[in-house]
Amino acid sequence: MMLLIHPDAEQSDREHLLHQLTRMGLKAHLVERDGQICVAIVEGQDKTIDFAQFIQLPFVQKMLPLNQPFKMASRQIKGDSTQISIRGRNVGGQELVIIAGPCSVESEEQLLLIGQTVKSCGAHFLRGGAFKPRTSPYAFQGLGERGLKYLQRVGREFDLITVSEVMDGDQIELVSHYTDILQVGARNMQNFTLLKKLGSVKNPVLLKRGMSATYQDLLMSAEYIMSAGNPHVILCERGIRTYETYSRNTLDLAAVPILRELSHLPVIVDPSHGTGIRRMVPPMARAAIAAGADGIMVEIHPDPDRALSDADQTLSLAEFSLMMEDLKKIAPIVNREICESGFLQEIRHG
Ligand code: PEP
Ligand code: MN
Repeated sequence: MMLLIHPDAEQSDREHLLHQLTRMGLKAHLVERDGQICVAIVEGQDKTIDFAQFIQLPFVQKMLPLNQPFKMASRQIKGDSTQISIRGRNVGGQELVIIAGPCSVESEEQLLLIGQTVKSCGAHFLRGGAFKPRTSPYAFQGLGERGLKYLQRVGREFDLITVSEVMDGDQIELVSHYTDILQVGARNMQNFTLLKKLGSVKNPVLLKRGMSATYQDLLMSAEYIMSAGNPHVILCERGIRTYETYSRNTLDLAAVPILRELSHLPVIVDPSHGTGIRRMVPPMARAAIAAGADGIMVEIHPDPDRALSDADQTLSLAEFSLMMEDLKKIAPIVNREICESGFLQEIRHG
């Protein structure tokens, strides 16, 4: 339930109302919806409470529904789509967010080559895992802090916004020290202790859909982060487990329009994990943009067959560059853009 407050209401009226709701055992927040202040009741909606009493108040204009189990993440609480601004760029705005980089940071040389390509192709976000969630304990586990240092260095060198995964609450401080966006992987989407801890950081969180998570499960996980104090959540469709075994996962592109309808949060797609097959990545990236995604995240490597993790789904730098040319053609059709960097224009125009 949301109570739309009259624009002329006094601050003391709003505070009094919030106080009254708290006394009734309800948890409420002031939110802005279409430029107007609302009191959103997010918790403790006891069926015995008569909400009609609030509409009698002179400064309450009307009641609006807030009946999804996720509240802060719901489109009902906020009609406009959320834009998350990170160092001068916006996630969820007109400009598409293209996040590219290796599955795992392997060396500084590897990342420098990748960073240069990412920038020169008109993308602005560099990914790279330093703490890797691997199915086998014998597989490469990531370079840890050393990998994060390379990511920060290369991000600075090419002015790219960086993304890296946190697997555990104990890693949050370290990873957020070096990187801009904290990724929560599919395997941790319902690690509620981790989600709650991410509520108290400033960095945006890229929340990947769990392998068997419903849309509601994903949005409830976003709700954990948001209700704990961090409103900057980016949703990521990365494929789910189905009976189909040909591809690593089944990329669920219907998630894009559905999540955008259910939530105001930005939605991106990861066609690399979504298919697990290199040649399927560009077509699914194109489809994701055409379906209205706010961006994509893809794995790229200078020598993909030798990548230390996820080699089969990793694009070469040339394949990535070709894919970007296609995405630049699709973007304007769906009213989006991929902005070439000043860096690239400088190279082109001497
Ligand atoms: C990754 O992005 O490298 C990763 C491990 O993704 P996911 O959690 O979606 O499997
Ligand atoms: Mn990977």
